Amino acid sequence: EFVFEQDIPLIDTTPANQNGSARSAASLSVVVPAYNEAGNIRAFLDRLLPCLDRTRAACEIIFVDDGSADKTPVCVAEQCALDARIKLIRLSRNFGKEAALNAGLSHAVGDLVIQIDVDLQHPPETIDAMIKEWSLGADIVYAKRNSRQDESWMRRFLARSFYRVFGLICDVKLMEGAGDFILLDRKVVDALMQLPERGRFTKGLYAWVGFRRKAVPFDVAPRAHGQSGWPLLKLARFAMDAMTAFGSLPLKVWTYIGLLLAFASTLYGAVIFVQKLAFGIDVPGYASLMVAVCFLSGVQLLGLGIMGEYVSRIFAEVKQRPMFLVQERIGFDQRPYMPQT
Ligand code: UDP
Ligand code: MG
Repeated sequence: EFVFEQDIPLIDTTPANQNGSARSAASLSVVVPAYNEAGNIRAFLDRLLPCLDRTRAACEIIFVDDGSADKTPVCVAEQCALDARIKLIRLSRNFGKEAALNAGLSHAVGDLVIQIDVDLQHPPETIDAMIKEWSLGADIVYAKRNSRQDESWMRRFLARSFYRVFGLICDVKLMEGAGDFILLDRKVVDALMQLPERGRFTKGLYAWVGFRRKAVPFDVAPRAHGQSGWPLLKLARFAMDAMTAFGSLPLKVWTYIGLLLAFASTLYGAVIFVQKLAFGIDVPGYASLMVAVCFLSGVQLLGLGIMGEYVSRIFAEVKQRPMFLVQERIGFDQRPYMPQT
């Protein structure tokens, strides 16, 4: 149960406060990606709407149906009919969460945009604190999970390793513990929309664009219904995407590895030469040859593979395909809407 400290509007739109020290906004967009989440839509709205009402801002809730196979779009469309604040973008197929978020962002018109998951793992009540931080001057307010205790040790280990490797090879500093539960000021959204890249690692992009950031802690709740769509293999691809998008060290490191190996083999050659000529020692062949051949072909394949990772991403970018395709939009004839209370 959440107890609110006070019951004042979080976004104060009264003219008297418009020039005060705290920022105020007139409109708020909530972007919600949903993939096979039919069972969560109503429960999610039941939690979210009271929080939005308390802000007294004009709101829009943009659901992005990411090509769900279940009744998700139907459930959302029903809600659209009941509440003018609720809108739906249906993508033509499953494009993945990053693309879905991007679709939502590109349609959002609010002064503030909040991204939140529909599975209630992101408690909507946290939005209060996020807006408060924004009103005090932060442009990006990210909800930072208190712990990863909800995840298996394997996932936690992989996450930690990922941050470590990313920090080593990439130029931007990630906001650790930040997920996709985030509040963005209009100028941040505009900045993100200017970035043309298709392979988007949004957590990296949030870090790349800069602006003033603030974290707000929250406890990750267990998933309300259904199951997570992130198997380990998909996470691995995601990590690869992230690192290739933000660092070129894996490409460049081969120059040095090559140099080192060339230097070492020259040295070894000299040793063999001296052994044979000066001491008459016969050079034993098979084992050392095998090891050298296998080791070097391994290193070469690794280097080639990493090149391939980059080249395939260059290929994807060069094709210039859109990040997502929209099948249907519902409710977008409405401007952000102020409920009569
Ligand atoms: N999601 C999506 N497209 C996908 C996978 C997930 O839009 O291909 C949405 C999903 O409906 C949810 C959010 O992204 O609102 C987070 O997904 P999930 O709970 O599966 O991920 P996790 O919480 O494990 O990170
Ligand atoms: Mg989830």
